[in-house]
Amino acid sequence: MISIEQALEHVIQYAVPKPAQSVPLEKSLGHVLWEDIFSDLDAPPHDQSLVDGYAVRSTDFCPRAIRAQEGSGNVELEILEEVTAGNIPTCRVESGRTIRVMTGVHVPEGADAVVMLEDVLWQREAGLSLGVARFATREVVAGQNIMPQATSLHRGQRVLPSRKRVRPAEIALLAQVGRTDVRVFGRPQVALLPTGDELVDVGFLPGPGKIRNSNGPMLAACARQFGAEVLDLGIGRDDREPLRAVMAQGLSADVLVISGGVSAGTLDLVPEVLEDLGVRQVFHKVNLKPGKPLWFGVADGVQGDREAGGSTLVFGLPGNPVSSFVCFQLFVSMALRRLGGEDLREPVAPRPSARLARPFEVRGDRVTYAPARLDWTEAGAVLDPVVWHGSGDIRGLVDANALAIFPEGGGHYEPGERILYHPLD
Ligand code: AMP
Ligand code: MG
Repeated sequence: MISIEQALEHVIQYAVPKPAQSVPLEKSLGHVLWEDIFSDLDAPPHDQSLVDGYAVRSTDFCPRAIRAQEGSGNVELEILEEVTAGNIPTCRVESGRTIRVMTGVHVPEGADAVVMLEDVLWQREAGLSLGVARFATREVVAGQNIMPQATSLHRGQRVLPSRKRVRPAEIALLAQVGRTDVRVFGRPQVALLPTGDELVDVGFLPGPGKIRNSNGPMLAACARQFGAEVLDLGIGRDDREPLRAVMAQGLSADVLVISGGVSAGTLDLVPEVLEDLGVRQVFHKVNLKPGKPLWFGVADGVQGDREAGGSTLVFGLPGNPVSSFVCFQLFVSMALRRLGGEDLREPVAPRPSARLARPFEVRGDRVTYAPARLDWTEAGAVLDPVVWHGSGDIRGLVDANALAIFPEGGGHYEPGERILYHPLD
């Protein structure tokens, strides 16, 4: 039995990033960038108004200028024109004049501040085409409500580094810098094979001795969550020959994930059938609860239509749903992230910690990953292990948004103790 850290190092070592490919922007979500992205323009492209308002000269609001004006003591400026989004000013703002501008519009020549519409009374007066703006405020400083040119990005700047995963925000930035296509790492393909004679498809009511195949949909969802494409191999039965045939099919993918059949039961045939197919075992059994029976192996790149030299990573996850889930979150996810192009220099990232919300008893000799609820309170982050009835209890898992990590050996933990955790999405 090896440690979680050793197991992770093995998994990462065998996961080689997929080759680069070009995809249209709208297909890039979830991929990892292969190239650095540079901006082809300044943003904003010019000094820009941040509000709907009036572009003015701040010196028109200094006390001397205000005193010089007749009447109420409010500054009044003649409106030269109105500039709406997509248009540019045609006049220059001289002293005593203003231009009405909408958000995002180019700040006109001569102006050095914009006063919000809400601070101005607009008065139409005969003889003047746009009338006069009467300002309720006197507090105007140079630069107010103006975003100077290139504040956000400047032409030639690297705006996204390679190896970053594309999320909706990255899509927006790629669009802003004009990228209709982008070079990304390919997505890993994951073949999924839940096994067990007890399994029935989700659409059926299980008969005596049977259960629904919940691992299949769960593992497919986990795989997609980490950027993979899924090849569904259906349900495998606990029978050597058919199992061998369907597993051979799964070796055409980058990763084959099998659930069930890796423990010590009579019909736990997965490890021997895999070895029979030439899949080399890297490890079997990890010091982890739940998830001890985890099997990991590698099939060297001779199978099916894998790219030359590529190998298929094979995970045999324990059948119990929570064990399967934990093993996926800890190990398969790392393989998928690395195959997909993420730069994982540290296989075991520093894990966050939070205070335990209530007394907790840990039994057993292995490192325990207990489903827990992480909440933010006034006292900071607290971790509350969910009421959980063991590896088969999917209902308990739904209440969790983290896995609380307890060292091997078990023991009694008091409220307030700092506990490391693995966040779940
Ligand atoms: P195994 O690892 O094959 O011994 O499976 C252990 C237990 O996990 C089984 O008795 C089932 O209760 C459960 N199990 C196995 N496969 C699945 C599956 N695909 N979906 C839900 N539960 C499963
Ligand atoms: Mg089984």
